[in-house]
Amino acid sequence: MPRVRPFLTALLASGMVAAGLAQSVVRTADPAKRGLRDRDFPRTIKVTGNVYTYEDFHAGDEKFTTTDMFVVTEEGVLVADGQGSPAATKGLVDAIRKVTPKPITTVVICSDHGDHTAGNGSFPSDVHYIIHPTSKAILERGRGWKAPGDAELVADKKTVQLGREELQILFLGRAHTGGDLSVYVPRQKVLFMSEIFLNRVFPAMRSAYPTDWLGALTKAERMDVNIYIPGHGFTETGDVSKEELRAYHKALDAVIAEATRLHKAGVSVDDAIKQANWGEYASWTLAKSQGPIAIRKVYEQLEAKLP
Ligand SMILES: [Zn+2]
Repeated sequence: MPRVRPFLTALLASGMVAAGLAQSVVRTADPAKRGLRDRDFPRTIKVTGNVYTYEDFHAGDEKFTTTDMFVVTEEGVLVADGQGSPAATKGLVDAIRKVTPKPITTVVICSDHGDHTAGNGSFPSDVHYIIHPTSKAILERGRGWKAPGDAELVADKKTVQLGREELQILFLGRAHTGGDLSVYVPRQKVLFMSEIFLNRVFPAMRSAYPTDWLGALTKAERMDVNIYIPGHGFTETGDVSKEELRAYHKALDAVIAEATRLHKAGVSVDDAIKQANWGEYASWTLAKSQGPIAIRKVYEQLEAKLP
């Protein structure tokens, strides 16, 4: 059908129809736009086989999810990230109990931010924590939850054998926090990226390393992965998750480019915040609050004020 192909190609290139063809989900972090109700959350999603995600709302007026992953094995459950309060993380623990009687044995701190760690007191007291040394130090300086003294430090890569499941804890480079860890399940080809991947959420840079973050995304894209899981925003199915990771990478690239353009034009930080044109990303969740933070962070990086 030579006449149809160019038409379809054009539609796909426009991005308007890709969603409908690949999966009938609205590409957004906003539950209402996605067709979901408040009472649909928190929710547990079976991603594939023994891999699940748990989504609950982040604090604040603008509704979007904080997303955790858990992997069930015959020897116990590995959890990647918690929620932002003891009550919310208790919800995660209870949800895991509904899926399996196996105990939670391992918790990986993929993001040290409070919205992923402040509820960690609700995990069983004997769980084994895995954390990047940078994140452990950040938590020690802060006022919130702290990793216990026997937490295992992973600076680069560590393979964890839990039952028959091999799990890889990976540091793909500094990104959203500086101590960002990912969890890779090779048998299922699932990669939980925590806050390295914010699905349709504006790049949040308060503690970020913008250029390093792009590198971490490239590394993730080059891995053998069927499903990428974000730390905020919805759990997607395979091909959609790949497209959304790519869309996030493009967003981060565009935000850095816009801030860099303003910096090169000699625009002051305050004026740049007013003048920044985020294009399509202005409609992404948190754009209003995170846009100014992104300007400041990219300016700091350009002025070599980042460690
Ligand atoms: Zn977060």
